[in-house]
Amino acid sequence: MDFGFTEKQEKLRKAAREFFLNEMPEDFDPDVETMFSLTKEQTAFWMKFQKKAGKKGYLTPGWSKETGGLGYGPIEQGIVEEEWGFTGGRWPNASGLHIAGPAVQVFGTEEQKKKFLPGIAQGTAIWNQAFTEPDAGSDEANQKTTAVLKGNYYVLNGQKTFITTLIKPDYLYTLARTAETEPKHQGISLFLVPADAPGITYQAQGTMGFGTQLNIYYKNVKVPKENLLGELNRGFYHAMAAFEFERSGTGNPANAKRRLTEFIQFCKKTKRNGKPLIKDTDVRKTVAKMAIDIEIQRLIAWEAVWRHSQKGQLPPKGYDLSGFFNKINSTQHPETMMHIMGLYGQLRSGAKWAKFAGKIERRWQVARSVHPAGTLEVNKIVVAGRGLGLPRIPARFNKMIAESLQPKKK
Ligand SMILES: Cc1cc2nc3c(=O)[nH]c(=O)nc-3n(C[C@H](O)[C@H](O)[C@H](O)COP(=O)(O)OP(=O)(O)OC[C@H]3O[C@@H](n4cnc5c(N)ncnc54)[C@H](O)[C@@H]3O)c2cc1C
Repeated sequence: MDFGFTEKQEKLRKAAREFFLNEMPEDFDPDVETMFSLTKEQTAFWMKFQKKAGKKGYLTPGWSKETGGLGYGPIEQGIVEEEWGFTGGRWPNASGLHIAGPAVQVFGTEEQKKKFLPGIAQGTAIWNQAFTEPDAGSDEANQKTTAVLKGNYYVLNGQKTFITTLIKPDYLYTLARTAETEPKHQGISLFLVPADAPGITYQAQGTMGFGTQLNIYYKNVKVPKENLLGELNRGFYHAMAAFEFERSGTGNPANAKRRLTEFIQFCKKTKRNGKPLIKDTDVRKTVAKMAIDIEIQRLIAWEAVWRHSQKGQLPPKGYDLSGFFNKINSTQHPETMMHIMGLYGQLRSGAKWAKFAGKIERRWQVARSVHPAGTLEVNKIVVAGRGLGLPRIPARFNKMIAESLQPKKK
């Protein structure tokens, strides 16, 4: 078995790395400047950068040339994403690149691919994934937003919440109920909605680690019939498949590696009791454990990419473990680093005695949000069912458990 890359692939890696590093501001610090709390100038900078990367084909190198890519395969896509992940940057259109775009690639009609994909590949369009509702998070099938066919349009009504965005979107990739069914997940469809359609309103909502997110309201929003993505009433299944694109990827382990590399530098420079931190046996052991965690995550991510490159010869795996490990590592590593730093780890950037630019406190805060693409518990359910073949608790038992938790009437 050969785990290496070809010469051509290594050349692409080098070119992408050089491009990203040359274009990025020298003082860019992803721990301080998160994509979710940018000034107007910073937002304009990252949009411009995204468009430049789109022109080079580095946003979607694995996509076909017709859809705006470089015509390479999943391995090359993984290589460029790994390089981008290591920089710590995040594309303003991350939801379009990692979720909506791949979903249109897989489930879209030829017209939809022509219409929607080039904007994503070129970096000009911003997409949001608008799935979550006040009563439909982990229970995604509980969608209350409705889409009713009237002539040539579906008319949407409902509310979405916790929608991640950097700037006002151009399109919403959204779920809505198209039939009242039992089981309820069989009456849901996917839509590609122009974000400026009359009847859509946006309300900002601040969060701890991710800056501002959106509440989105649909009031009699007319969506052209041809913007239905995939099959009518099969949207839940399509969306579940597309979640795997959101969870997987080589960018996350590369980003984790960058963070650990920086932390190791800090431990080399910082002395405790007259000795650099890194000379302490416990610190060395702890850092080594984090490095192993990240390497496991990296290999799992690459296995998924490789499997994707063997499409047609190997069946799809049906579940992803790299996103699962990402949730665990990104929560645990900041905590571990905080222990090494002692109470200094809790000081915010800008505080007088803050060490390591207050990065650990920031990382710890961001790591409170491991909800995107399903919580860790939901990911465990996916791995248990699809990966290990374990049975689900029958619905009637869940109902009995819920009933038993109700206060008894006297
Ligand atoms: C930072 C951030 C970004 C997000 N971005 C987006 C976005 O761009 N688009 C979008 O559509 N949504 C987004 N979301 C929403 C996210 O998808 C939901 O928060 C997530 O699906 C969980 O839903 P919920 O918040 O309603 O929690 P709930 O579903 O109410 O869950 C509450 C708790 O119960 C646990 N739980 C629920 N069901 C089970 C079960 N069966 N077994 C065991 N435990 C269970 C959960 O793990 C969780 O801990 C984002 C959320 C956050 C925090």
